[in-house]
Amino acid sequence: MKYKNLKNDEIMLSGISEQSLVNGVGLRKVYFSQGCNHHCDGCFNPETWKFSGGKIFKINDLVKELKKESYLDGISFSGGDPMEQADKFSSLAAEAKKMNLNIWCWTGYKWEELMIKAKDDKTIVSLLKNIDVLIDGRFVLKLKTDKCIYRGSSNQRIIDVDQSFKKKKVVLFKI
Ligand code: SF4
Repeated sequence: MKYKNLKNDEIMLSGISEQSLVNGVGLRKVYFSQGCNHHCDGCFNPETWKFSGGKIFKINDLVKELKKESYLDGISFSGGDPMEQADKFSSLAAEAKKMNLNIWCWTGYKWEELMIKAKDDKTIVSLLKNIDVLIDGRFVLKLKTDKCIYRGSSNQRIIDVDQSFKKKKVVLFKI
C-alpha cells in the first residue's frame, strides 16, 4: 500500500494554493499531491516525493470549502503525482465538475503510459474522464525552458482530454 493509514474518504496532499494565476487559465485553487515515483532530475518539488510525507485531508472537507469559493474559474492538481492516488483526485474532480469548475492536472506519466496503466487501474480512467486538461510527462532538465507556458520542459504536452478520448489519440489543448 502506497499511502499508509489513508482512509477511503481521505487524500494525502503536500499543500494547497488557495489562489493561483499560473497553474492553468484563470483564477484557480491548486491541490498539490504528496508522493511521486518519477524522481526527475531537477524537480522543483522533491519534498513531495515521499509517500509517507504530507498531510491528510478529508475529501468532503475540501469539497465544502470549494463550494464557498464561487470566484474560482477552476481547480488544478499538481504534485507530487496526482495519478498515484487517482481515485481520491477523481472524487474531488467529480464534485468540482458539479460546480461547473474546469479541471487541469499535471502528471509525470505520458498519456500513452496512462492508457497502459489504465488497463489494470480503472481509477486512472475515472480521473482522466473528470478532468479537462492534462499536462503530461516527466520534467527533463536538459529540455528545461521558460518559453513553454504551463510546462517546465519542452517534452511536456498540454492535452485536451475529452478530444483525446474521442479521437483515440493525443489532441493538444488550444490555449
Ligand atoms: S513528476 Fe513532477 S513532482 Fe514528480 S519528480 Fe517529476 S517534476 Fe517532480
